[in-house]
This record gives sequence, C-alpha cells and structure tokens, in this order.
Amino acid sequence: MVNEKYKKMLSGKSVIRELAEYATARGKEIGYENVFDFSLGNPSVPCPKGYTEAVIKMHKEKDPMAIHGYSPSPGNPFVRETVAKSLRNRFDLPYETKHIFMSSGAAGAIAHAIRLVTEPGDEVIGFAPFFPEYRPYVNDSGAELKVVPARFEDFQINFDALLEMLNPKVMAVLINTPNNPSGVFYTKETLTRLSDILREKEKEYEHEIFLISDEPYREIIFDGKAYEYPSKYYANTISCYSFSKSLSLPGERIGYVAVNPAAKDADILADMCTQISRGIGHNCPAATAQLGVAEVIDEVSDISVYETNRNLLYDAFTRLGFTTVKPDGTFYILVKALEEDAVAFCNKAKDYDLIFVPADNFGAPGYFRVAYCIDTEKVRRTIPVLEKFVEEIYR
Ligand code: PLP
Repeated sequence: MVNEKYKKMLSGKSVIRELAEYATARGKEIGYENVFDFSLGNPSVPCPKGYTEAVIKMHKEKDPMAIHGYSPSPGNPFVRETVAKSLRNRFDLPYETKHIFMSSGAAGAIAHAIRLVTEPGDEVIGFAPFFPEYRPYVNDSGAELKVVPARFEDFQINFDALLEMLNPKVMAVLINTPNNPSGVFYTKETLTRLSDILREKEKEYEHEIFLISDEPYREIIFDGKAYEYPSKYYANTISCYSFSKSLSLPGERIGYVAVNPAAKDADILADMCTQISRGIGHNCPAATAQLGVAEVIDEVSDISVYETNRNLLYDAFTRLGFTTVKPDGTFYILVKALEEDAVAFCNKAKDYDLIFVPADNFGAPGYFRVAYCIDTEKVRRTIPVLEKFVEEIYR
C-alpha cells in the first residue's frame, strides 16, 4: 500500500513548476529567447567569484577526507561561528555558535523551525500573499497553516484579520520579509505592531508564540533602503535564512536557522534541530557548501540587474494601467490581472508567450506573479509584447 496523502498531492502539483515546464517545452518549439518566461524564482546572476574561487581552492588543496566527510549534525562549528559573527556585526544581537543550525536552504530551516515550536494540532498563522510551499512545510509537520488575508493596498499586515484569527492554539506566526510574491518588505511600523500584539497574546494565553521569520531575500533590497530585521523587534524569533538567492546558490541547498539569543530556550533550540533532522532526514548539511559560503559570508551576488528589471516592469505595468505595489526588493512583482480570473488572464498571456503565474495559490486571487530574475535584455523585449497583449485583448 502506498501513502494516500502523498499520492493525492501528485494531482496538486506546483503551478509554478508546471508553467516553467511549459515555458521550456515552448522554448524548444520557437527558441527559448522568444519565450518571456517569468515563472521561476531561480536567480539569473552568477554567484560571487569569491565563492567559486574558494570552492576550487578547497577542492585542490584540502584533504578530500576532511572536506567530504559528514558534517556534524548542527553544521560545521567554524561555519556556525562565522554565521553568528556576521549576524552579531550586522544586527547587533549577541548570537553565538549555539544559536545557529545549518540547514538545507530556507525550506529545511522552516521545516525545523516549525517542528521546534509546534505539536501536531497546533496552529501556525501565515500572511497572504505567501509562498505556496508554506502549506506543505507547515501541514506536513502536523500543525495547521491558517492564512491571514492580504492587505492589498500595500501588502503590509492586515491586523484586524490577524486579531480575529489569533487564539490559544496559535504557537507560531510565519512571516516572509521581503516577500515572495509581492517584493514588499515589512516596515518598522508593521513589525512594531506585530510584536506588540504577539507579546500581549503571549501573556493572555500564557505560552510563547514564536515568530518564524523566513528571510531568503534579506539581501535583495532596492533603492538603498535599510532592511528591518524582525528578530530586533521580538525576542522569540527564529530566523530562517538561505544562500539560494543572495549568493545565487539554490542548487547547493544551504541555509540556516538563527535563534534569537533572548528567545525562550534559546540555548537548546538549535540543538533540538539536530533531533528533528533525525526524523525528517535532513541531517548533516552539505559539507563543502557550508565551507564555501563561510568564505563569502557577507557578500551578495550582483543584484543590480534585479533592481533594473523591477524599474522597467513597474513602470511598464503602471503605465499600462495595472494595479500593483512597488517592490522594495526580491525579484518578484505582484500585479492585479485585467480580469477577475487571473488564471484566465495568464492563459491569454500565454498565447503571446508571456509566462506569468496566477497568484491564487499565493493567497492573492485575481493577481499574478512576475519573477523578473531574467536578463534585462529580455525584460526590455517583453514590454512591447505586453503592450500588444493588453491592447489586443483588453482595450
Ligand atoms: N521561502 C521563500 C519565500 C521562497 O521564495 C523560497 C524559495 O523560492 C524558499 C523559502 C525556499 O528557499 P530554499 O530554496 O533556500 O530552500
């Protein structure tokens, strides 16, 4: 007998993946350069040279037995300390090695963080718009994801809805800033209000409510703005980070959990992750990837391309009469479709080889996501096609 739950999930495959597969197949027919594929959040700029050089040097000069051996379960202690030091310097919180757990990307980090602070049957609150993989990340742990509806005017938090949904079963709140799919980050005011509410509710319910902060786009911020680090606002925070986007290393599967040193049980949470790993099979993160990222811990890929693309697309969409909010970072923009049904809109766009993702699964029905981690030259060629599509179908 096979497991019915996972068997059923096969029919609910990721819309993003399906569209990306369609774009690849279409590219084989007409040449990929003619497909305006905005489906996948796969970085389009190379990792920093320093990473490649460090990895080559490591493979050439280090003892293979040393670099390819199993990593300790919570991660290489040198790498964990490197991460802690970087966070200390950057955010002025007293992180130590014991607060860091190396993981396979943000996905692995979130899977651990949820299990750290929930039991099956507990509730985790998330906020629309949200990364659709949050459903399997949370629901597979036995906890239940409850989603606060979006505040469409600025994609900050809909606090009225949050206050209605909070209840004693909520053990964790999962945020993502800056956000996939809106590209917006939470402001000082949003984070202050959120943390005030959570502290109040912790007292009322007489248990902790942990903030799980998913931050794979933390470094991809535009207009010289400063990132507001959620952990600075709320002690019971578990930050989940990934080098997938900031260093363009999604295939290396490396990230970390960083427990705020002032959190409840902060001294043991990262250690507890090692016990969770035993069960979910994510133990001993990739050894050479850990060593590689430690060499470039404070570097970022050249993200200027994303900002240029954001500017081009934001200007084009607003000029053509679309409703959207200007992204603060990431490589996504969330745009309101020109008809109620975003799936129908995206299907019509497909006829022009414009591949956009309907955002129904992101908790934003009627909207579509545009992942602009592609060459700027292609973004420039997209704009006349977009104009033609809008003119012919919607004017
Ligand atoms: N969280 C968000 C918001 C994401 O967009 C992604 C990947 O696209 C992840 C988590 C997973 O990141 P990783 O590939 O590092 O596991």
